[in-house]
Amino acid sequence: MWNVLVALLLLGVGRWTGAELQPVLKQVTEPVEHGEGPHWDGHQKVLYFVDIHQQLVNRYDPATNNVSHVKLEGGEVSLVIPVADTEDKFVVSVGLHLVLLTWNGVDEDPDNVEYITSVEADKDGNRFNDGKADRCGRIWAGTMGPEKIVGEVTPDQGSLYSLNPNSFMPETEISPVSVSNGLAWTSDNKIFYYIDTPTLQIAAYDFDIQSGSISNRRVAFDLKAHNISGFPDGMTIDSNNNLWVAVFDGAKVLYVDPRTGSLLGSVEMPVTRVTSLAFGGDNLETLYATTSRFGLTEEQLAQQPLAGSVFAITGLGVRGTHPNTAIRTVQ
Ligand code: CA
Repeated sequence: MWNVLVALLLLGVGRWTGAELQPVLKQVTEPVEHGEGPHWDGHQKVLYFVDIHQQLVNRYDPATNNVSHVKLEGGEVSLVIPVADTEDKFVVSVGLHLVLLTWNGVDEDPDNVEYITSVEADKDGNRFNDGKADRCGRIWAGTMGPEKIVGEVTPDQGSLYSLNPNSFMPETEISPVSVSNGLAWTSDNKIFYYIDTPTLQIAAYDFDIQSGSISNRRVAFDLKAHNISGFPDGMTIDSNNNLWVAVFDGAKVLYVDPRTGSLLGSVEMPVTRVTSLAFGGDNLETLYATTSRFGLTEEQLAQQPLAGSVFAITGLGVRGTHPNTAIRTVQ
């Protein structure tokens, strides 16, 4: 049944601006509520992603089109990072906590959940948001303030942290931030790109892989300066060190050269709330996009019934890099 549905919902050619490529857009999962945080596992050849308010970690297998999920208790689940050299362990956020999830990829209940650390115990209503591991396996994860209405977040209540893999102590890297979102590192690990969504900018920092420190903030790309509507959310980087940026409430994916601050192109999406991106598939040539239906009105949902689905975008003529995994943080 699902295979038939997928066949019926092939979307054909996505609209492309700014280059001669013809991206092909395909819905690959049924809608979830608030898809986020995609991470391609190149060993198992599956895509992990979260459903934030439903507190789910999802596992999508492109070989079978099967999606399984596990539900976590205790708060919103905004990031999932597989632990290196394991098939069933993941660093996951739950509210303002980071935990080590053990999950067999099938059952709806976790096999085990071990506490790692917490932040901002004094900030009621904050939660973790996007996070990734750097090449050394350090977790980088940020927070956001209370969100009374979707998209209306109390400003300057969050921070970006890195997690010392030995002490498990979170170290504050950027503060304050409002909605900590996309993260990416260049392939030489010398530049870190970061999005605090309400700034409408992608910031660049010098990155020291040895110490895990960042410095020298500058603006790499400014959506407002390019008259782009919507909000920069999650992002990923390709093997040419160009950025692919999800635009929440902008119905598009941006293709950006962060060295020149120029827009190389954009992919128009059939849903407005594009949340994050990750390269995956064979040769890392498929760009997976998570999306959200959370907070949309019934009228909006009628106009964009696929909102919340994961989409696969191919034909971009670029490939990603293998995402970093977490090191084993709890014994
Ligand atoms: Ca996000």
